[in-house]
Amino acid sequence: MSLPRFFLEDQVLAQETEPVFPLRLAPDDVKHARALRLAPGEHIAVVDAAQDYFECRVEGFSDGQLAVAIARHEGAPKRRARITILQGLAKGEKMDAVIRQGTELGVFEFVPLACERSVVQLDGKRAAKKTERWRAVAKSAAMQSGQPRIPQVQKPQTVQEACAHLADATAVLIFWEEAPASAKLAAALSDAISAAGTAPEEAHVIVAIGPEGGLAEEEVRALSASNARSHLVSLGDSILRTETAGVVAPALVMHELER
Ligand code: SAH
Repeated sequence: MSLPRFFLEDQVLAQETEPVFPLRLAPDDVKHARALRLAPGEHIAVVDAAQDYFECRVEGFSDGQLAVAIARHEGAPKRRARITILQGLAKGEKMDAVIRQGTELGVFEFVPLACERSVVQLDGKRAAKKTERWRAVAKSAAMQSGQPRIPQVQKPQTVQEACAHLADATAVLIFWEEAPASAKLAAALSDAISAAGTAPEEAHVIVAIGPEGGLAEEEVRALSASNARSHLVSLGDSILRTETAGVVAPALVMHELER
């Protein structure tokens, strides 16, 4: 059983001078720690604000905070390819599902894409509120699934805005329901990785997924032009729902990269 994991936003454990010290957890995390009924002597995993990894021993609660001692300083986790999902904005709980499950898989970053055929369009205020919610979803999924870091969730962007940041990526994979069946993921990924001259574990792969209504042709064109190593990819004859494709595509990319 893996240890319960906590992320610190503004505390660097290397700077702590006392053997027992309080963890400065976010209020929700204190609640979570209480709900786990952590008892003195139990161990937890802690990732601090400097992305440093520790195993800590619980000493108790003091002044409403969890007091711990460092049991072990752990080495950095093994390097892994970074996957950024450009996820076409979808209705209701679908974005939550993509972010939760993508985080469980180990996705590096999510960029909600305001697409031409997105049913939902978010104005500034609603976009900010949603982003805050998605970040909370990512954090709790990262804690629950023992991720080495919390993935970033960007504010919703237009395809054009997102494209401006893609030139340096190892690969841009455009999952398009209208791509020919011959547009295979394995070939696209290995072409891009050899063209970039990158080791698979150093790769940064962009996975673009359309909203419920799919990607418009001009969006596909813009994504294709955003990077010299962009490829159309087909997932076969079945048309997957956006929230299915948003999870299946990164899982397949990870599987290919780790092969
Ligand atoms: N345009 C479609 C549905 C889009 S599916 C329609 O309304 O009939 C939503 C997104 O999931 C697509 O834009 C694409 O990014 C991805 N997707 C679903 N099935 C796919 C497939 N067979 N191949 C590649 N991408 C797919």
